[in-house]
Amino acid sequence: MFKNIIAPVQAWLLSQGKCVGCGKKLEKKQGKGLVRITCECGRMYMYDEGADSYRRANLNEIK
Ligand SMILES: [Zn+2]
Repeated sequence: MFKNIIAPVQAWLLSQGKCVGCGKKLEKKQGKGLVRITCECGRMYMYDEGADSYRRANLNEIK
């Protein structure tokens, strides 16, 4: 399945601090806990400063 190939690639990109859509380096914002980061391409991520990791923002966080 296509999805099974894509998921590890996206996880790898995120672990590198890069956008899964355009590959651009995501900025690191200072803040307590989770910080919302919006990529230039419009995708939204949550940056966990404590863990120094990114993940895709879920629907509740986007609105
Ligand atoms: Zn992007």
